[in-house]
Amino acid sequence: MADLLRGGQFLVKETACEDIFTPEDFNEDQIMMKDSVQEFVDREIWPKKAQFEKKDYALTESCMRKAGDLGFLSISVPEEYEGMGMGFVDTMLVCDYISGATGSFSTAYGAHTGIGTMPITLYGTEAQKKKYLPKLASGEWFGSYCLTEPSAGSDANSGKTKAVLSDDGKFYSITGQKMWISNAGFCNLMIVFARIEDDKYITAFIVEYDKDNPNGITLGEEEHKLGIRASSTRQVFYNDTKVPVENMLSTRGNGFKIAMNALNIGRIKLAGACLDAERRVITESVKYANERVQFKTPIAKFGAIKQKVAEMTTNAWVGESATYRASKDIEDRIELRRNNGKDTHQEAELKAVEEYAIECSILKVAVSEHVQNCADEGIQIFGGMGFSEETPIESAWRDARIARIYEGTNEINRMLSIGMLIKKAMKGHVDLLGPATAVVKELTSIPSFETPDYSQLFAEEKVIIKNLKKLFLMVAGAALQKYGEKIEEHQQLMLASADILIQIYLAESAILRAEKLAKKNGEQDVKEQIAMAKLNLFHAIDVIETAGKHSIISFAEGDEQRMMLMGLKRYLKYTNMPNIIELRNIIANKVIEENKYCF
Ligand SMILES: Cc1cc2nc3c(=O)[nH]c(=O)nc-3n(C[C@H](O)[C@H](O)[C@H](O)COP(=O)(O)OP(=O)(O)OC[C@H]3O[C@@H](n4cnc5c(N)ncnc54)[C@H](O)[C@@H]3O)c2cc1C
Repeated sequence: MADLLRGGQFLVKETACEDIFTPEDFNEDQIMMKDSVQEFVDREIWPKKAQFEKKDYALTESCMRKAGDLGFLSISVPEEYEGMGMGFVDTMLVCDYISGATGSFSTAYGAHTGIGTMPITLYGTEAQKKKYLPKLASGEWFGSYCLTEPSAGSDANSGKTKAVLSDDGKFYSITGQKMWISNAGFCNLMIVFARIEDDKYITAFIVEYDKDNPNGITLGEEEHKLGIRASSTRQVFYNDTKVPVENMLSTRGNGFKIAMNALNIGRIKLAGACLDAERRVITESVKYANERVQFKTPIAKFGAIKQKVAEMTTNAWVGESATYRASKDIEDRIELRRNNGKDTHQEAELKAVEEYAIECSILKVAVSEHVQNCADEGIQIFGGMGFSEETPIESAWRDARIARIYEGTNEINRMLSIGMLIKKAMKGHVDLLGPATAVVKELTSIPSFETPDYSQLFAEEKVIIKNLKKLFLMVAGAALQKYGEKIEEHQQLMLASADILIQIYLAESAILRAEKLAKKNGEQDVKEQIAMAKLNLFHAIDVIETAGKHSIISFAEGDEQRMMLMGLKRYLKYTNMPNIIELRNIIANKVIEENKYCF
């Protein structure tokens, strides 16, 4: 196995297919875990979908309790605090398969196990972990995460909530207002962010909440939302809420860092949480398409429907490929840091997730957009019935919409991915300068006119991936050179670069997964996966061409612009373009024949 890549290094290094983890690599325990989660969802959640849509918050709470009884809330809590202490991939697996039936339960689960519990696991003192983690792991208590305020959303460090130390130095008194707090209606513990005096950065506190002894905490009414209707979302008001000093999480002023790191994990988990929703929408849509007859023909036989099925399936499969690749990288880095003997498990996990923060943002953006498109096309396949509350697609469409907003909006995450990459380059963690200089040199030299041997599977596609990386370095490198640190003021350029980055990570992950599968099972056996990897790359090239062109013609002029537009053409060259319609048909025919998402 090659050296584990650092976060963001995928952009400047090549990865062999043997070096990525794919869902086909799940071990027996993981498959058993997946089956038991699926069984739980099929029994307890999916059949009650309509009830969730009626804002039955108590149902969400009771399902959370059942999940707790089955151990699903304890996956990532270390064993010494009565959790299962399982690896990062297991955590993602459970999060993925438990989240597909309804966004209401998925949000409750994510808010509790992710941002509600993880900050204590990652930053808590021994005493805090002993006191709170067993309760949170079992579902005896539920957690929430209180960062957002009316005037502090994306600008999360700008909150006005205050924490004032008492004269005797024994407790902090918290006063302020939080909003959009998931699980607020039934939680027993809140991770609350507040500012002490005029500190530059906020501080995190563990705040217990007991309805019968509210300690200055009052809750607003339930918000009436477009989707995730049975997820409890309320405002939370603190009026002189007393919190013992020992409940400060980490150190004074470290809250913003905690908030960001909790969100990093939250982001990759959100990507995971969208995957099974896509699989279920695809299965429901295909089942309907096979049954629905128009013009004396099941609509699944129409090319227009096959196109949708193929594109939905491809996105789900590609997002899954990238999500599990990154998850295993995080798990391996935790292991690596542990084996170095320097870090505790807590420190190792924290640093490993921080290391892959770029990938976490990429996945959050990509998969949240996939699930939205998937649900939208699902409605289209259902036609008028898709618009009816009677079908599961209508609520899936509404539920999907939130994923682009919370855990940092997709705009913020796009810009973060580029901002973090630049920071990593400046720290010397990812060498962008060397490869970017090589690209400029290559562009000014005469290209080779030899026709390479593309007879091997993905030979040309892998060259294209390499070239797309060069294209990113060309565009982002030139923009960075022009604007320096002020690049952050040029948001549309940052967004375009992020689009290129996202497409590269996903396209490479899909190609490597299909290649790995083909080596194992033979090309014929995995022709659908090969088709998905190719179809996705084809679309990625289109997205990258648009993003690259928009950037180049906006910030470069004269000779530089001409040279870069030529570079764009050179790096997007695809000699043996696949037959896209044929690829779609291969994928769709399989899914339609199986009558479900089947990869
Ligand atoms: C259902 C739901 C559940 C939630 N659960 C929680 C929770 O449990 N805990 C919690 O703390 N929060 C929670 N949130 C809050 C959520 O994280 C925020 O809504 C989100 O971070 C965006 O903040 P905002 O709503 O204030 O939007 P704003 O920050 O006002 O953003 C509005 C628009 O402006 C854009 N924008 C903002 N700043 C910039 C910028 N610098 N550059 C470019 N564009 C920008 C955004 O991308 C967005 O398109 C939840 C929200 C919802 C709707």
